[in-house]
Amino acid sequence: MIELVFATANKNKIIEIQQLIPNTIMLLSLNDINCLEEIPETQATIEGNAAQKAFYIYNNYHINCFADDTGLEIDALNNKPGVLSARYAGESKNANDNMDKVLSEMNGITNRKARFKTIISLVIDNKEIQFEGIINGTILTEKAGSSGFGYDPIFLPDGFTTSFAEMNISEKNKISHRALAVNKLVEYLNRHH
Ligand code: IMP
Repeated sequence: MIELVFATANKNKIIEIQQLIPNTIMLLSLNDINCLEEIPETQATIEGNAAQKAFYIYNNYHINCFADDTGLEIDALNNKPGVLSARYAGESKNANDNMDKVLSEMNGITNRKARFKTIISLVIDNKEIQFEGIINGTILTEKAGSSGFGYDPIFLPDGFTTSFAEMNISEKNKISHRALAVNKLVEYLNRHH
């Protein structure tokens, strides 16, 4: 039996992933290890932030763990908001303000290609492995739909006719960047543990 921390405070995410991985691995949340402080995320890239969070737990709590970080990369904005996705329009981290900022910066721009990218950093015995999940799409010219969160109303995934926010959650979760990265992590853990 190995214990593995998922660096999240979201109990639902823990339950979801625990059901997908071998029962030789016991998944723990930040609460379970009594980590209540904010984990630093000060790197310039999504990859860097995921690694920083995972190594923070590994180094301070001496336990194997993984952490995820996600961002929206837009071609015409030089891959912004990227690592700034949560706070693109300011520290209040307001999703509507973030979308409004993107829509106004994209006003009149015809190349609307974008992607969501999730990186999971897994640190076991001081060695790191990263898993990447990407979904390509385009930025709509106005918001559509109200489910989901973040930039969902302005993201149209390739091959679909509705924004992420017009899909029901389970439909989105089957195809999302996060699902793709989690699937790779789960496959790795199933092969190696
Ligand atoms: P986090 O790394 O999962 O906290 O994601 C950082 C930010 O990216 C969030 O605050 C959202 O603005 C955005 N984001 C992440 N995942 C999604 C998604 O599935 N849909 C829309 N926005 C997302």
